[in-house]
Amino acid sequence: MSMPATRRPRPAQDDTLLKVRKILELERNRRFDDNAVMGGLDRFFATLLVPNAVADSAPLSAAIRSLPDNGYRSLSANDRRLWISATLTALSAGSTRRPPAQPRAPRVVTPKTLDSSITVLKGVKGATATKFEKLGVTTVRDLIYYFPRRHNDFASLRAISELIPGEDQTVRAQVWSAEETRLGRKSGTIATIGDASGTMRVVWFNLPWLAKQLRTNSEIVVAGRVSLYQGRPTFENPEWEPYEPDEQSTHTGRLVPVYSTTEGLRSSRTIRKPVRQALDEYAGLLNDPLPSELRERLGLIDLQVAVRQAHFPDSYNALDSARRRLALDELLPLQLSVLIRRHQWQQPGSADALALPQETLDAFLAALPFVLTSAQQSALAQLLADLARDIPMSRLLQGDVGSGKTVVAAAGLVAAAASGQQSAFMAPTEILAEQHFRTLCSLFGAAANGGADTHGADTHGVSVAEATPPYLDRPLRIALLTGSLKAAAKSALYERIEAGDVDIAVGTHALIQSGVTFARLGFVIVDEQHRFGVMQRAALRDKSARCSHMLVMTATPIPRSLYLTLYGDLDASVIDELPPGRKPIATRWWPPERRDDAYDFLREQVESGRQAFVICPLVEESESMQSKAAMQEYERLREQVYPDFTLELVHGRMSGKEKDVAMQRFRSGEAQVLVSTSVIEVGIDVPNASVMLIEGADRFGLAQLHQFRGRVGRGAEQSYCLLLSESPSEDAQERLRLMQETTDGFKLAEADLRMRGPGEFFGRRQSGLPDFRVASLFDTRLIELARREAERLLNQDPDLSRPEHAALAAEVARMFEAVTGEVH
Ligand code: ADP
Ligand code: MG
Repeated sequence: MSMPATRRPRPAQDDTLLKVRKILELERNRRFDDNAVMGGLDRFFATLLVPNAVADSAPLSAAIRSLPDNGYRSLSANDRRLWISATLTALSAGSTRRPPAQPRAPRVVTPKTLDSSITVLKGVKGATATKFEKLGVTTVRDLIYYFPRRHNDFASLRAISELIPGEDQTVRAQVWSAEETRLGRKSGTIATIGDASGTMRVVWFNLPWLAKQLRTNSEIVVAGRVSLYQGRPTFENPEWEPYEPDEQSTHTGRLVPVYSTTEGLRSSRTIRKPVRQALDEYAGLLNDPLPSELRERLGLIDLQVAVRQAHFPDSYNALDSARRRLALDELLPLQLSVLIRRHQWQQPGSADALALPQETLDAFLAALPFVLTSAQQSALAQLLADLARDIPMSRLLQGDVGSGKTVVAAAGLVAAAASGQQSAFMAPTEILAEQHFRTLCSLFGAAANGGADTHGADTHGVSVAEATPPYLDRPLRIALLTGSLKAAAKSALYERIEAGDVDIAVGTHALIQSGVTFARLGFVIVDEQHRFGVMQRAALRDKSARCSHMLVMTATPIPRSLYLTLYGDLDASVIDELPPGRKPIATRWWPPERRDDAYDFLREQVESGRQAFVICPLVEESESMQSKAAMQEYERLREQVYPDFTLELVHGRMSGKEKDVAMQRFRSGEAQVLVSTSVIEVGIDVPNASVMLIEGADRFGLAQLHQFRGRVGRGAEQSYCLLLSESPSEDAQERLRLMQETTDGFKLAEADLRMRGPGEFFGRRQSGLPDFRVASLFDTRLIELARREAERLLNQDPDLSRPEHAALAAEVARMFEAVTGEVH
């Protein structure tokens, strides 16, 4: 019988058959010791990479079926020899000797696509499907990309008598008995299993119904950590599955994937089976987006192999290669999109050059009450050089808390104003916007007191201050936009901005997102934007300020890997030096029993004329609970601890106006103690404050603690940071120790990132981090590789229009869409 043309084996199948043949020959050369492949021939047959190849090769599948139930391994050496030689003969005869006895059932052809709902998979129906949805898994593709958290090493098969307590091991054994039982207050299943070497006890807590599934005398494979119970080895809550020699092992006998589960999908087991099926039947449909040239040059494995190995790896090495490859799949499109965006922005002629004449600069610097540090000077030189070009600047200004970023930015504002352009200065909170407004007013010599206003004031929270600095030939009009602005005042201010009647508009991010139109916006400053990612910035730029220069300032030192990922579209300047004369802030972690001593210390400082912040513990449940807790703490301190001091309170539920009033009373020295939630975190500058007392310090991350600490130490006095914590976890203790040891923000940021992960570090929602499944933000080398490869690709094909880059271009588009909600 000859094969119809349409049933010619696919090349992948040819490969598999060739591989099988080689292994069988090797097995023959090794005198049938079942060691030609790791794990033995039975396992090899069960895990052939192209499972269909077995089914499609009739001689091979017939040969495998002809083995006894317990597989090749149960054959005697002589029988092994006979079986191998028969099989090799059948295989080399090929399809022409196809046994005639196998009529194929006509297959119903349903088109398979990766976008099919997971309900096409066995056992994934109704409620289970809903639970998968909770994990973000709705399609087969999602499931294939739902990679395990880790793997358990259940690869080594042991005899019961050889089990070693404390290790993950696998046994194949017979069920002697299995019954439901009470274990303490809960019910469970207890079983006795045995192999030729002995018997042992297996216990499953909370799974009484297992007793019925474990049929007496059936063979099962059990895998897990072995413990000792009354001196005898025992499995507690192990993984198990019926022993089925023909099936690929899914839960045991290998590196077993462990998935993050959700309520109702109680074990990884529920996930493994459909994953296995998805891989077997659908992974073959995956299209590799990486150009083959790149894959070969970097020695990356094929995508289909990678996804299979990421779930069910043959070895840890295979797992590593798979993860590296899949991580690059995530990092490369990100780097490409960053670079493409950057290129799009940087078109010469698309921005106005903002030149600052040397004598204007000199006069500005001369008017400052201090001399710039050399780090400030070089950052300033970079900034001004960028602004003087007609290519839109994209620059990141990094500098630790208190390093003096604001004044550098202010020079840029002068450059814009000198060129007749407007600027927007955006802060993350209203308190900070208000403070920047004040700082600028005083830098430029305008009066701006108490939120009220000197020129054209109204009573709705609008401030437009006018300065006439000697170095500009015309007045400088600075506006503050706050949320408490009444509608009428708001539209009046918008009109002024639109008419070009305001030179510098200070506000929160809403400033640029709420439909304010600028007459000629030349320069945008975004302060403390470490909560913003590259994609949000891209959206921001596109929506609002296409052709203006942009300066992003952050006090959070950014490790290089993150810089490339989140800020890869920006050039970087660093102010790595503090103004002279700053005394390092003395930091001390006080044990709970010394709380009163900490309070006394704060009292002494206040009595000698200083001021203090008290930060309330973080309440994560909600903003309103957080505010409530802060109010209680404020009352307690006011009534019981410092009845003789004036205290003020700031929390997130107060209106902008209320916050202003409280801040103003603290700033002016009327109040000595400011009780606050974390709204005070960034940027607040009150030089007379010398004590930062942080309650519940264990609940905050390092970067955040460092920010709090940066609120003091801004004047000439020695400042102190007092950390209070009731019962810190080990992690928290480590953080508190680090805080005591170092004031180096960079060290702290790296440690924080390491200890908490990027999601927490940046604040999950706003981080703008793409949802990486495999890639790690700590893997600087791989990120750098992705960056280099992205550059290389774009050099050859700037808009990824070549056919071999089509899949990659689609990934880039998906990335934009996923992160910015923007369709590209
Ligand atoms: P940050 O970088 O944290 O935003 P600021 O710009 O708020 O820091 O500056 C912190 C304080 O240091 C401000 O009071 C500012 O006036 C002051 N300052 C800035 N530069 C210098 C300098 N070169 N010498 C002395 N004080 C400076
Ligand atoms: Mg600042």
